[in-house]
Amino acid sequence: MTFRVYYPDTPDIPLPPGHRFPAHKYRLLRAFITDEGILEPSMLVASPIATEAELCRAHDAAYVSAMLDGSVSDDIQRAIGIPWSEVLVERSRATAGGTLAAGRSALINGVSGQLAGGTHHAHRTGGSGFCVFNDCAVAALTMLDEGAISQAAILDLDVHQGDGNAAIFAGDRRVFTASVHGENNYPFAKCASDLDVALPDGTKDAAYLGGCGEALAGVLAAQPQLVFYIAGADPLECDRLGRLNVSPTGLRIRDQLILSACRRARIPIAVLIGGGYGEPIEETVRAYGATFAAARTVFG
Ligand SMILES: [Zn+2]
Repeated sequence: MTFRVYYPDTPDIPLPPGHRFPAHKYRLLRAFITDEGILEPSMLVASPIATEAELCRAHDAAYVSAMLDGSVSDDIQRAIGIPWSEVLVERSRATAGGTLAAGRSALINGVSGQLAGGTHHAHRTGGSGFCVFNDCAVAALTMLDEGAISQAAILDLDVHQGDGNAAIFAGDRRVFTASVHGENNYPFAKCASDLDVALPDGTKDAAYLGGCGEALAGVLAAQPQLVFYIAGADPLECDRLGRLNVSPTGLRIRDQLILSACRRARIPIAVLIGGGYGEPIEETVRAYGATFAAARTVFG
């Protein structure tokens, strides 16, 4: 098996002091993955930068050009929650390009992924919730337009609801959207996915895994030719923004469940990390690392 995992090869996003977004987690993850031997260095490939035309498949051209040239409105910047910078733009383009590259690689090799991705709060007209461009939407729409696939699914197990994915693909039967999330968590105005599983605060492993199983069954029934799997680490008990009480073992069982089911059904899968705001952040990084270790084992 050729297992290619993409990573955004751009500097950490600059943030004001005390900002709650852990921008350094991507760098920690890449170091952890190499130091622990989870992936061989030859498996790691720099994410290509998404072109403006690719971004415009998922977003209004006016928003894309305002983001690229820095003229984006204060309202949109506030919704994103990260101040505009050239590095932010470069990183966001790499994240979209990396998910597209992972989707293409998964079609050939059965599995691929990115040490980033899952920017599911970005809508057609603007980003929000730390998300600038919607990587899964850019990737799925580009691959659909090119005729590489005719049916895809997004299995979103980030603890926050995938409102951007749901809104962009509302009424588009080519992409099945499923989200398992905390019902009382951000975004407070949710958009209906094809399948939503809303969990109460404090949900533990058994009920969480039941919800993931339900979403997985819906995804398999949609018979996608490619699954974008947002393997969020923010359902973990240690997460500052998660509100659920899932253990690291629970997340490992979840990943095993999703990856083995796709392998059995011969559905290519692109694995993306999604949210994670652990205290300490090393717990989040360990959970992300375990996801890629599971992908390598299941498809090895
Ligand atoms: Zn999240």
